[in-house]
Amino acid sequence: MINSNEDHSICARCGGHCCRTRPGIEGPERFLGSPDPAAALAQFLGSGNWVLEQHLGVPYQPGETAPDPERIIRYPRPATVLEHGKPGLAPLPDTADCVFLAADGCYLPFNDRPRLCRELVPDICLECESPWGRREAALAWLNYQEIIEQALKQLTNKRTGNHPMSSPLILVISRSETRVQVYREALESIGASCLATSDLKNAPVLAASTPMNGIAIDMPVRIKASSNDKALVEDMLLALPSVYLNVSPATDTIKILTATGTKGTFRTFEQFVAACANFQARVVRPKNRVELNLNALLYHDAASGVAPEQTVTLNVSPEGCFLFSTHPDIEVNQQIVIDFVGLTDRTPIMASVRWLQTWGKDNLIPGIGVMFVRLSKAQRIELQALLKALEPG
Ligand code: SF4
Ligand code: SF4
Repeated sequence: MINSNEDHSICARCGGHCCRTRPGIEGPERFLGSPDPAAALAQFLGSGNWVLEQHLGVPYQPGETAPDPERIIRYPRPATVLEHGKPGLAPLPDTADCVFLAADGCYLPFNDRPRLCRELVPDICLECESPWGRREAALAWLNYQEIIEQALKQLTNKRTGNHPMSSPLILVISRSETRVQVYREALESIGASCLATSDLKNAPVLAASTPMNGIAIDMPVRIKASSNDKALVEDMLLALPSVYLNVSPATDTIKILTATGTKGTFRTFEQFVAACANFQARVVRPKNRVELNLNALLYHDAASGVAPEQTVTLNVSPEGCFLFSTHPDIEVNQQIVIDFVGLTDRTPIMASVRWLQTWGKDNLIPGIGVMFVRLSKAQRIELQALLKALEPG
């Protein structure tokens, strides 16, 4: 365990230079602790959030390593937003934000950050150094290159279908230990693994650090969740195969109720698990959604001259929002224009539709989830101030 060196006062002043220019490096220990280190590494690499960096040459250690300037040593580091999900896992030359960087800093809990990030010591003069850097990473990974080779083979086999998928990991959210046990046994009996939490609020943290194949929410949790709690898991429900589950008390049989269905609609528990097994495990970056109602004019086609739809947001994040709408003709990826009538700067905001909740389906609030494409600086600052004011305690 590495003691936390975090110093928010220094890093807030700096604005996260390290995370914007040189994402950390992970050591082999995280994977060696797993029963199958290559599979654990393959799951990380397969999430799209990691790339394989290369070190040319074996760093010399007197009496321990032979200098070999030609040897290539590979090791994993977080991807940048430009590298995220790119095939090949090779680093790109351009600098960009680390995929784990959120608006207010790294969203990984300290102990889940890569080793270099945990060892980096913030410096008041912003000359921050880590006692564990590229040289130490190359030495640490030197004798574990075989794990990297095996992980790459597993990934290739998975993509080409040469081997059955490894056990899919499914996040189960239920307050009842008895019901978790029912779900766990059912999952394990058909070859899936279960990661359970009793609190919806824990789900985004788990999903941000552990690649998952699916998410299952127990109905009593859904029924009792506040709209803010529901907003917390909205991105996970969209990014992963997802279901709401219930247990029949008389027979302990599992009933399935489909959630948003963006990754498929499942009639049986087995269908859901099969879809998870065929879905590439991934981590889900939280969007920090907050329940916030902003009155808005929604232009479906700004050039058409058609009057805008009068609507309202149900939740907002720095990157986008969910707008109520029953309009039947909006499509995913459509470009729309939003005018938030309460903002000081009324410049039309360009946005792209990322997902839809159609009226009449699943008894859910109809509307569109959108990502802001163009906000003015004044709008960004005003939105962030509104969101900050609603942050819990
Ligand atoms: S560790 Fe250093 S470079 Fe990184 S955010 Fe903090 S002060 Fe900036
Ligand atoms: S993992 Fe976190 S601390 Fe490390 S570079 Fe990425 S955002 Fe920064």
